[in-house]
Amino acid sequence: MSCKKISLITTLLLGLIPFSAQATSTPQKETAQTTVATPHQKLKIVATFSILYDVLKNVGGERIEADVIVGPNQDTHVFEPTPDTNKIILGADAIFLNGLGFETWLERLIKATDYKGFIFDVSKGIQARTVIDPDYGNKPVFDPHVWGDIKNVMQWVENIKNALIDIDPEGKAIYETNAKNYLEKLKALDESIYKSYQDISDGKCKVITAHDAFEYYGAAYGVTFLAPSGLSTNDEPSAAEMAELIKLIHKEGIKTIFVENISSQHLIQQLASETGAKIGGTLFSDALSRPDQGSDTYLKMMQHNTKILLSSLTCFAKKP
Ligand code: ZN
Repeated sequence: MSCKKISLITTLLLGLIPFSAQATSTPQKETAQTTVATPHQKLKIVATFSILYDVLKNVGGERIEADVIVGPNQDTHVFEPTPDTNKIILGADAIFLNGLGFETWLERLIKATDYKGFIFDVSKGIQARTVIDPDYGNKPVFDPHVWGDIKNVMQWVENIKNALIDIDPEGKAIYETNAKNYLEKLKALDESIYKSYQDISDGKCKVITAHDAFEYYGAAYGVTFLAPSGLSTNDEPSAAEMAELIKLIHKEGIKTIFVENISSQHLIQQLASETGAKIGGTLFSDALSRPDQGSDTYLKMMQHNTKILLSSLTCFAKKP
């Protein structure tokens, strides 16, 4: 589009990050300015991954033309940009990312393509968990999987709305209406999921997944998640870590474990065969599904994950 391209960088998180290795990537630092889109020029917005892409479309509506870098069922942790990725970036007015060390490849991509548009970190203002992960040299790192708690996605929506209004002030009323409508749906689902766990779980339920993507979900709704692969999917657990998990499955009497749409199933299958636990279904962790798989929006993904977790009756004991 013809509007002047500039960089809008959110710096809030940068100041809070105590560890450089996993710092949120904000490759360009320039003074924020605003520019105006004419009614006939849709903003070209790129989301780094499919969950964020869906949320962006809900806020931007008809005023934006959205694209996504890491699509359905794909793993952002181990993504490798291709020449097609470069084309997506170069056509964009703005790139929206989760940050918190999730898109480790983005800074390289920005440099390689000499991208000069807006870059916006949607996790600004979210209280991120920090964890000590052996895969990262036992240093504290942010857990990037903030979307597991719907309240964090409500913060994304506020941030996205404000960013879009900065870039395209003429669309203010539309962005505000879209955000308000979507926030109502998010709030209703958040309350409904919370209530469904309150009704049947004693709060001590433990669930095994392939990688550590559900800590925010667990904290928000009262479930403990355990995972052999840690925060990222790019490191295999050691034999000792697997043995530890097998011991835990027996000790806790865990009867059902879950695979994820983005992860290899072999670790979970190995755990199932060595412990006798059954595989309870597929959780959508870091990516939405294809449309034919029924979890192709963030709202549907959260409903699906909750439904299959709750249906794991060996895991949840009904309150007396
Ligand atoms: Zn992940």
